[in-house]
Amino acid sequence: MLSIGQGRYLFLLDWIGTPLSFMNAFRFVIYGAEGTGFMIERAETIEQNALEEINQTADAGTLEEIRVKYMGKNGLLTQVLRSVGQAAPQDRPRIGQQVNKAKQAITESLKARREALAPLGKSAKASIDYTLPGRRPPLGQKHPLTLIREEVTEIFHEMGFGVVDGPEVELDYYNFEALNFPSDHPARDTQDTFHIGDAIVLRTHTSPVQIRTMEKQQPPVRVIAPGRTYRHENPDASHAFTFHQCEGLYVDKGVTMAHLKGDMTYFARRLFGKNVQVRFSPDFFPFTEPSVQYDFSCVACSSRGCKICKNTGWLEISGAGMVDPAVFGFVDYDPEVYTGYAFGMGLDRLAMFKYGIDSIHMFLENDLRLLGQ
Ligand SMILES: [Zn+2]
Repeated sequence: MLSIGQGRYLFLLDWIGTPLSFMNAFRFVIYGAEGTGFMIERAETIEQNALEEINQTADAGTLEEIRVKYMGKNGLLTQVLRSVGQAAPQDRPRIGQQVNKAKQAITESLKARREALAPLGKSAKASIDYTLPGRRPPLGQKHPLTLIREEVTEIFHEMGFGVVDGPEVELDYYNFEALNFPSDHPARDTQDTFHIGDAIVLRTHTSPVQIRTMEKQQPPVRVIAPGRTYRHENPDASHAFTFHQCEGLYVDKGVTMAHLKGDMTYFARRLFGKNVQVRFSPDFFPFTEPSVQYDFSCVACSSRGCKICKNTGWLEISGAGMVDPAVFGFVDYDPEVYTGYAFGMGLDRLAMFKYGIDSIHMFLENDLRLLGQ
């Protein structure tokens, strides 16, 4: 590392890191013109050493230390530069040239090395800490309406019902006419909807799917039709412009009200528990005769009376009845041979009762907290 010869004395001083510029002056007094050769040689050695150190470094911090060591305020090369003024005037350009060459070479080498190390430095910062616990990706969850539809569908599967589907934008004929709602019948007032032209509406119930199914298929028919429906309603906690229904239809020889009661009771107990009671009371629908409303005993208070059941102890689940023979007339079923029952219920209401949701509007709002529960 140390060069031999005239510079040995000064090298030793440099090496121990003591910048003594007065020693340089002293040395020139002693060496005179011979100092020029020494200084050039010195600058070359510094350059070589510096480049070697730079190339062996794999760390940006050490590069900075090298820069300070050679080119800092008291750096080795800086010291040589300071001494140039003490050389003989005619030699100064040569020495200065050599020092500048060394300075430039070291500067460029530092820059190149820094750039070479930069990606490494960055990736080292952003590198993965394998000891950290993993981040869980947020998992989606099923919407309460999806959950209730799947559960309802499964229960009716157990009873031998298939699932059918139909259009939400429906012909007036299927939504009203074929279900025994003549165009001037006051029953239409109970199902005000959105009209798309004269003969096309947004369906107010999934009953049109029953008509479409019976048109295609002779008895026995045993299907449910879950799906989205629309009505022109004044919104409140239990009414919205859109909601979901699940209707059911069972047509065969000898189907009676007893089948309806038995099946509804089985359904109620499978969905809400074996202690649930089912109550039937007379009602009116254009497409069933006789018609009933059926209620389940309140699952929230076990019929003692609460806010959900409005202190009645009963939850209105929906309407049902024996299919009106007039409806069979629209689909060419012989009412002398076949009878059937039909029922409909709101999936939104079932989900509200089952999961304790206060407002039907929560199903329509994109609040992820609902799904997180
Ligand atoms: Zn209650």
